Amino acid sequence: MPRLAVGRRRVNRVATISVHTSPLDQPGTGDAGGMNVYIVEVAKRLAEMGIETEIFTRRTARDLPPTVELAPGVLVRHVTAGPYEELDKEDLSGQLCAFVSGVLRTEAAFEPGRYDVIHSHYWLSGQVGWLAKERWGVPLVHTMHTMAKVKNLLLAEGDRPEPTVRVLGEEQVVQVADRLVANTAAEAGELIELYGAPEERVTVVNPGVNLTTFRPGPKDAARARLGLPPGAHVLLFVGRIQPLKGPDTLLRAAARMLEEDPDLRRRLVVACVGGPSGNGRARPSHLVDLAAELGISDVVRLEPPVPHDELAGWYRAADVTVVPSHNESFGLVALESQACGTPVCAAAVGGLRTAVRDGVSGLLVEGHDPRDWARALRRLLDDHGLRAAMSRAAGEHAAAFGWSATAARLAEVYTGAMAELHRTPVVVNL
Ligand code: UDP
Repeated sequence: MPRLAVGRRRVNRVATISVHTSPLDQPGTGDAGGMNVYIVEVAKRLAEMGIETEIFTRRTARDLPPTVELAPGVLVRHVTAGPYEELDKEDLSGQLCAFVSGVLRTEAAFEPGRYDVIHSHYWLSGQVGWLAKERWGVPLVHTMHTMAKVKNLLLAEGDRPEPTVRVLGEEQVVQVADRLVANTAAEAGELIELYGAPEERVTVVNPGVNLTTFRPGPKDAARARLGLPPGAHVLLFVGRIQPLKGPDTLLRAAARMLEEDPDLRRRLVVACVGGPSGNGRARPSHLVDLAAELGISDVVRLEPPVPHDELAGWYRAADVTVVPSHNESFGLVALESQACGTPVCAAAVGGLRTAVRDGVSGLLVEGHDPRDWARALRRLLDDHGLRAAMSRAAGEHAAAFGWSATAARLAEVYTGAMAELHRTPVVVNL
């Protein structure tokens, strides 16, 4: 039956779509990472502003309840689409019809007008949002998080190119979304230049960091809790273990540093926190093997993923957090580390150029030559004065990125999109 969107202006409830990964999942392994943290943090801040969020995600276990209250005003809705476990992200496009049907059925059980706006995350969710938007007569706001065309331009060794079906799917979402949210101006440029997004529909909203969880604290106490020696030089990698994140670059740089200065072996610790993901899942012991091959197993400490809130201890314990990604839409890890007062050495790619102030709150390195990384890391480890100055600047830089600001900007995007849609009432015939 056709529906006519009529003049409502305030956002009361958002339908957030997150098909391939649940906000209830532990970030840092598999498909769960920054996007999960983003969705949870934004939903909580929107709830504080009086805006409810219902997050639709795929049911990944038989015994999951239909709904879970994540926080007051934040509800997770499990949608059955495909087998509960063991369905790769790459195969999920075949389940989108089932997923969208679950979303539409849920809404149909309520009075019309339950959702004021849809916010979809990642292209698979954008496909679902596309149909739901037309059915409900509400605007679709979409965030890409990563883009196939960008990824394919910056492939790491051993990484597979993203398939054409994803490229086409993303192009479709760009065409139909009422607003596209880009994490940084650089991402906005990519949406416009690579995907032909109309400039007026692209808005930059920086992601944030939880400034209550991630704040400076005593290094020695943090190290004692993690079993790290007080006098060690600690280089930290946090994130999913996959070629895209470039952990190999860190290990190779460490090997290089040890070659140049064998005495460093007594003090160096390279800690990697996170589990395998994407292509990395096919070779879960890759980092163990690489450390052995490079002869640095004794300085490398591999840790399974830790709950998001507990990561602050790792950042405080580290001298430098290393983010050698080949591509990064933003890089929440870089912000979290800086919020804890730990400088970052990051690749000069994508959102990391915004997340890190080069030469001020950390260093940006061009390319992935281990020699360049070894030089930058050595500079940070050796120069205490520089590190102390960067530590202060890191805290100040991160303080400008609270999640409340992200949520407030998104609420503006939602109301803007709603106002525009209602100026031109849309009749949808399905
Ligand atoms: N993370 C976590 N536990 C871990 C490893 C990572 O909670 O063991 C979180 C980390 O705090 C960050 C997110 O996972 O918020 C990773 O986000 P980022 O933007 O750095 O990378 P993405 O996963 O989006 O590629």
